[in-house]
Amino acid sequence: MAEQLARKIEQIVRKVSGIAHGPVVLHEPFFNGNERQYVTDCIDTNWVSTVGKYVNLFEQQISRTTGVKHTIATINGTAALHICLQLAGVQPGDEVLMQALTFVASANAIAYCNATPHFIDVSPVSLGVCPERLREHLKAATSMQNGILLNKVTGRPIRALMVMHTFGHPSQLDELLSICNEYGLKMIEDAAEAIGSEYHGRHVGNHGLISALSFNGNKTITTGGGGAILTNDDHLAQQARHLTTTGKVTHIWEYHHDCIAYNYRLPNINAALGCAQLEQLGDVIMKKRVLASRYQHEFKQVADLSFFNEMPGVKSNYWLNAVILKTPDMETRNQLLNTLNADGIMVRPIWNLMNRLPMYAACPAADLSISHQLEQSVINIPSSPSF
Ligand SMILES: *Cc1c(COP(=O)(O)O)cnc(C)c1O
Repeated sequence: MAEQLARKIEQIVRKVSGIAHGPVVLHEPFFNGNERQYVTDCIDTNWVSTVGKYVNLFEQQISRTTGVKHTIATINGTAALHICLQLAGVQPGDEVLMQALTFVASANAIAYCNATPHFIDVSPVSLGVCPERLREHLKAATSMQNGILLNKVTGRPIRALMVMHTFGHPSQLDELLSICNEYGLKMIEDAAEAIGSEYHGRHVGNHGLISALSFNGNKTITTGGGGAILTNDDHLAQQARHLTTTGKVTHIWEYHHDCIAYNYRLPNINAALGCAQLEQLGDVIMKKRVLASRYQHEFKQVADLSFFNEMPGVKSNYWLNAVILKTPDMETRNQLLNTLNADGIMVRPIWNLMNRLPMYAACPAADLSISHQLEQSVINIPSSPSF
């Protein structure tokens, strides 16, 4: 059965990508605009490091693209998340709610704050934190004391909810935000995968207190490595800039630093690449959405699989397209992954659940039955905008 299904997937991927023979990669960067010109400009003018006009320009352009007032460019998306959590008031010994089904960086950023991830199930319609399951879990497993939400089992404060927009598909932000308001939780958006995605007409990253983007090489647009902190709060933006710039107090010659901080700023040479990439974002998102709709059409005739579509009311960037086995089965999933990768069709499973990783195995977790099913059934298929 898996053999036949693998052949069918390969047929569709080759048809949609137009690559009849040889390897088809999962997600390839594209450099079709002003990338060479801007990077060369950095080298020619000696402005290659953490200050320079491209950093400022990149930050302005990200703010314009997302509609978020402040952008602070960072060395990568994980560093951006680390600062977001710190500025949301996450303290050592706290717990932070997050989906178990995500890339490991979401959990690592929490651990960098000496806090503990607390895992919640995802919704099968958004692949993000499930609002109903989150609410049920909070009702059963927490109590409010002196305005602080406590985990009844561990006794630790639960300070925040980190929401992740899986494969670029926006989470159910209105519902999640209303739960956060009800329980006094800060909402942080891990929008690493979601540049160009909108929730009810507004770019993601606008809904929580503070958000993170990533511009890693495999993301929708890239700066080589890079990320950004987004916030509409003036004070948090100022602190984010300070914390990512070694806590240096601005002065013409003096080295005064007023807190333990980080060297997390994005170099100018990376920002130059980003400026050129951003000029092509609209075109890239359009191509990715066309690709998704062609896949969707083709996979309609495959009885054992469903193509994952955006929910009503959102616009996804379709960073990585995904097909889902209608009957979750690890063995079939692994056979498909083996066969297709051997044939040069680069496919990947969704992530292992965070609570399966050794360092997060002992963390608190709600019922994760939907995540378990998705872990056994989701496969990402080639999604380059150049197809
Ligand atoms: C890519 C990614 C990150 C981290 O971004 P880096 O730039 O690679 O550090 C964080 N969270 C999620 C969900 C991601 O996909």
